[in-house]
Amino acid sequence: MPEAILKTDQACPKDLSQEEQDLFWMQYAYSLAEKAESQGEVPVGAVLVLAGKLIAEGWNRSIQSHDATGHAEMMALKNAGQAVENYRLIDSTLYVTLEPCPMCASAMVHARVARLVYAAPDLKTGAAGSVFNLVANENLNHKLEIVSGVLQAECSAQLSHFFKSRRAHHKEIKRQLKSGLIDS
Ligand SMILES: [Zn+2]
Repeated sequence: MPEAILKTDQACPKDLSQEEQDLFWMQYAYSLAEKAESQGEVPVGAVLVLAGKLIAEGWNRSIQSHDATGHAEMMALKNAGQAVENYRLIDSTLYVTLEPCPMCASAMVHARVARLVYAAPDLKTGAAGSVFNLVANENLNHKLEIVSGVLQAECSAQLSHFFKSRRAHHKEIKRQLKSGLIDS
């Protein structure tokens, strides 16, 4: 866990610069990614913030909820919509530890989120500039401001550690199956 100005309560400390606020909320999102990982999910966490206050949290839940749309950002957007009783989340900022996929990027445009702050780029499916850009596209009538790379080293390390240990786990199962230590 990166050194923390984490979780005082659910508002950001006063008098922080925009950059410090971004770091504060990304650390919060990181803690939600840890929660996802502890539940056996890919470690991605998201928070939706409005006027310096936490409106909603989300973390990956695709496996447990048997839901391909169970991404951290979708959960944050859904919870935020319920909290403010409006699907439009005008002037809000969404923080997420991994660059959004096309589904989540499009949902953010529908929700009129103002800013997207993400940590690690996703070079395979990232839809905020890495592979596609669906959040600031000239053809869309709503564009998000994008800030990337906040807490990037920590969030990238968290993801690569997760995938590395998952690969090692799969390899070990294969080895045991092969040697007859466990039944297939
Ligand atoms: Zn997604």
